[in-house]
Amino acid sequence: MVLGHQRCGAVKAAYESLRDGEPLPGNLQAIVKALQPAYEQAVSEGGADPVETMTRAQVTLTAADLRSNQDLAPLVGKGALAVVGAYYSFDTGKVEVLVGAPS
Ligand SMILES: [Zn+2]
Repeated sequence: MVLGHQRCGAVKAAYESLRDGEPLPGNLQAIVKALQPAYEQAVSEGGADPVETMTRAQVTLTAADLRSNQDLAPLVGKGALAVVGAYYSFDTGKVEVLVGAPS
């Protein structure tokens, strides 16, 4: 399971870094770079809370990456492995499955 969560400080810091064009120090910039596709998706999707949109995008993108991984894809293909993307809300205490729930 790839589990994103509400009010993620890492995603928020990356969002602000990319929005403002201000790189974060040291190894943190590697995280910013990894989150850039989710940032771009969030910017194009819009929405009331861009950090939440970006978090959900990151979950979906990461789950897709894992599903297409050369070692995992065959297992996913024959139904031996599920890669589930989900979002955890602190406000509700609930985990919302976004993608990949086994049928
Ligand atoms: Zn977090």
